[in-house]
Formats: sequence, C-alpha cells, structure tokens
Amino acid sequence: MFTLPTPLIGFFKKHLEYVTEHAVDPDVRRHATPHEAVRHYIDLDHFGSWPFEMIPRARTDALFKFSSWYVRTPLGDTLQLVPPGTFGPYQDSFLLLLPDSSFMALAQKPWRQKFVHWVLPQYYEARWVLPADSLQHWLDSLDVPIQVQEAWVEDHLTPYGILPWALEDTYRKLVAAFAQKDERRILRYAADLGHYLADACVPLHTTENYNGQLTGQEGIHAFWESRLPELFAEEQYDLFTGQARLVLDPLAYFWSLVLDSHQLVNTVLEIERRVRDSLPSDRVWCTELRNGQAIRVRCTTFAQAYHEALNGMVARQMRRAIKAVGDLWYTAWLEAGSPNLGWKVEAVPPLPSAQDSAEHATHILRKHN
Ligand SMILES: [Zn+2]
Repeated sequence: MFTLPTPLIGFFKKHLEYVTEHAVDPDVRRHATPHEAVRHYIDLDHFGSWPFEMIPRARTDALFKFSSWYVRTPLGDTLQLVPPGTFGPYQDSFLLLLPDSSFMALAQKPWRQKFVHWVLPQYYEARWVLPADSLQHWLDSLDVPIQVQEAWVEDHLTPYGILPWALEDTYRKLVAAFAQKDERRILRYAADLGHYLADACVPLHTTENYNGQLTGQEGIHAFWESRLPELFAEEQYDLFTGQARLVLDPLAYFWSLVLDSHQLVNTVLEIERRVRDSLPSDRVWCTELRNGQAIRVRCTTFAQAYHEALNGMVARQMRRAIKAVGDLWYTAWLEAGSPNLGWKVEAVPPLPSAQDSAEHATHILRKHN
C-alpha cells in the first residue's frame, strides 16, 4: 500500500484493515472448492527444465498443448489424439493414433479452434466431454476413417498448477472492479491478487518438490516461508521497495516472477541440506508443544544458521512480493482509466519516507502473526 501514489494510497489506507485480514482468503478457500489449490503454484519442473520454453505462456495454448483427446468407437476401441508439439518430426500436427498403431497427422490450427469452442467452456467441469456428433462431422470432413461413439479430453496441465494464469484472471477482475467503481470487489480482488503474487515469489511454489518430499526435506516449505520470516522479519528485514510502477505486460511480469523464483529452488534445498549436515543432530530437530501435542520441528539454532546461509533471500523475495503487489494494483487502476472513486485527495498524506514504510510494514507483519 505504501508504494502507491495518490490518490490510490488514500483509498487503500482507508481499507488497510480489510485487505490485511483478507489476504489469506485464497488459502482458506482451498478447503471449500477443488478449483482453488491449483491457483497457488505451478510445478514448472514437471514439464522440463529452464527456461521452460515448452510451456506456452498463454493459457489457452498451454491447455491445448497439454491435453489428450480420446475417441471411443462403436467397436469399443479407444483411440487417442495427441496434440502438436509432443512428437518429434510432427511438431505442428495433431496425431491420431489408430488401432493398428499407425497414425494420421492432422493440421493443427482447426483443432485449436475446436478446443476453444468445445472444451474451454467446460473448464470447471470434472470431465471435458466432446460433442460426438459434431466431432464425427468434423472427422468425416477431414477424411478421417473412424466412427465416434463418445469422445472426451483430459487436462494434463491444471493438476500441476496454474499460478501465472490465476494471476492473470484475478488481475482482469481487479481491472473490471476498478472500472465499475465497485469498492467491495476492488478490495476482494486486490487482496486475492496480493496473495497470489506473494505465492509467486516463494521458490517452493514453483516446483514439484514443493515440500522437499522428493529429497528427504519434508517441512521445508513452511520452514522457509513461515518460520524464517516469523523469527527474523521484524528485527532484520528492510522492506522498503520504492514506488509502484506501471507494468506494460502483466502476463509477462507474472511469468518472470515464477521463473525467477524457480531459479532459487536449488539454493533453497541445497543450503538446507548443507546446514543440516553441518550441525549436531540435537541442534537440528527439537520438540515443541502445539495444541498440547509434542511435534518435531527444526530447532531455532538451525533456523538461524539456515537463514544466515540464505544471505537475505527471504527478505529479498518478500520485497519482490511487496513491489509486485503495488505495481499490479497501480497498473490495474491505470488500465481501468484511473477512475476517481470520490476519494478525498486532500486527506491523503504525502508518500511515506523509507523509514515510515519499513516501520509500517513491520507493524502489519507483527499484527499478522
Ligand atoms: Zn497461497
């Protein structure tokens, strides 16, 4: 909030309490709807390696690429249609795998249109069903010799997380709310956007090994994103970031957040392992009482050593998140045409100094914990 220019800062300051409280809403919703959890992460390394050019940056292209199409024939055979970009020499074609294990290569473009037309409207359905009659028609016109009994599409993208596109969606909703001068929705989507932006700055939100479960480092997720800032942010972090700036291409910005975060994943894991190995075991694991139950946690000494070895990484990522939130709130407001919501400009104080801003952020943090 304190990175925003007038008159925006005045509006948000008035609602500081609300936004602070509702910043955690998306995590609360995770239990209420099956569609929520995937918005908080993207398992980039599931798809390949840096810089992940195999993942199309636009959502429709990515969904289309990581979908499998199936047709069941009246004889009970299930045939698969493989989207373009998955099979070596036929990068640009849709491949129909036939029962005799031969295949037909079909042009890509019309299939993408069909995907947009038939499948996307069902995004929130549990099962993507293709209209058998229309598909039959379409295949006949392409001279594809198969009979369609039923047909469906499987989504191999969404289960691995859709964070960049959840950011895009929420950003669009915030722009619309600003344009309609709808205060309630502005606050709701501003809080949601802040949440997802901050998630995008957490390296472990961008990997399949999100809790160190693949490398014997279970619990590292909360250790890095909760325990370390809880222990050290108030005393040690400088959270001053400078003023919010206009973002020319929000989707590219969201991608750069997750890609940059991902580059830190190895360091997050490596350093934890190195520091753990350097400590006597009674300095690594300690017992703590929570709700009357003894649980095993990483010792404070361990946390201290890890935090030091990370050399300011958590604070840097937190600053990145703060900057991102200010930048995108500001950009959404500009894109909505800088609406005047009847905010009293004269009541707005000048931009806070670095000192004020850091103090204020620390205050919010303390409250939050
Ligand atoms: Zn989250």
